[in-house]
Amino acid sequence: MGARLGQHFLRDEGARDAIAELSGAGPGVAVLEIGPGRAALTGRLLATGADVTAIELDENLAAKLPAAVGGDVSRLTIVNEDFLRLDLRTLGPGPWRIVANLPYAVGTPILQRILEWDAWDQAVLMFQKEVADRITASPGGADYGLLALSVLARADAAAAFDIPPSAFTPPPAVDSAVVVVTRRAEPRLPAAEEKAFWRLAKIAFAQRRKMAAGVLSKALGKTKAETEAAFAAAGLDASVRPERIPFEAWRALARALT
Ligand code: SAM
Repeated sequence: MGARLGQHFLRDEGARDAIAELSGAGPGVAVLEIGPGRAALTGRLLATGADVTAIELDENLAAKLPAAVGGDVSRLTIVNEDFLRLDLRTLGPGPWRIVANLPYAVGTPILQRILEWDAWDQAVLMFQKEVADRITASPGGADYGLLALSVLARADAAAAFDIPPSAFTPPPAVDSAVVVVTRRAEPRLPAAEEKAFWRLAKIAFAQRRKMAAGVLSKALGKTKAETEAAFAAAGLDASVRPERIPFEAWRALARALT
């Protein structure tokens, strides 16, 4: 049960304070906490004067949450549900400030669900360090890929700080990192471009060691000249590999090649 639900509880007081601080929680702010567990963060968030809605999948932990908070719980709403299945419309219009120390097994699906939702403005999320690096990656490194692009399509992400295994009970096998994700009022990727953009990026990143122009020209049935012209128009060298192509250049390529 503990492993499946990723139940590593944050015991480090400094990390608890830092996450509450980053969340921007304060009087009258609507905070959505995913996976409150034993209230490591919930108590801090309530203490700021925020209204906290906590979504906890584990029935036992959800039932014990008020006692675990130990103080005033009049501004706490507990929802005993799976965040991945919950009808998010039932939570109300927000805008929510999201806070979550995520179970590693479902960190990425939970992030994708948040990104597809509109009723939030900022999310302070903890992931396995390796996943956090892929979320915040810039073009040019091995970490940059579809996950970074999916965040950039709708938001901006910045690494905040790392947390060692010793900050948790029980300690996980890997390092963790906190990421601040800020939703853009206007997505970088307009809805009308989504299909072509993801088709292209998925084809190219499936063979990330190869030159994107060659892979795309073959997959899309384009001539070498057509593909090279599209790359030149996007400001890219024809020999570029997918991990060096910035977000806007993917958009330009998708428009030119599909
Ligand atoms: N926030 C607490 C802390 O920092 O100590 C607990 C963190 S623990 C890594 C993850 C928590 O998320 C657990 O309490 C677990 O039961 C809960 N959880 C796991 N999957 C969930 C899901 N799909 N929806 C809601 N809560 C979930």
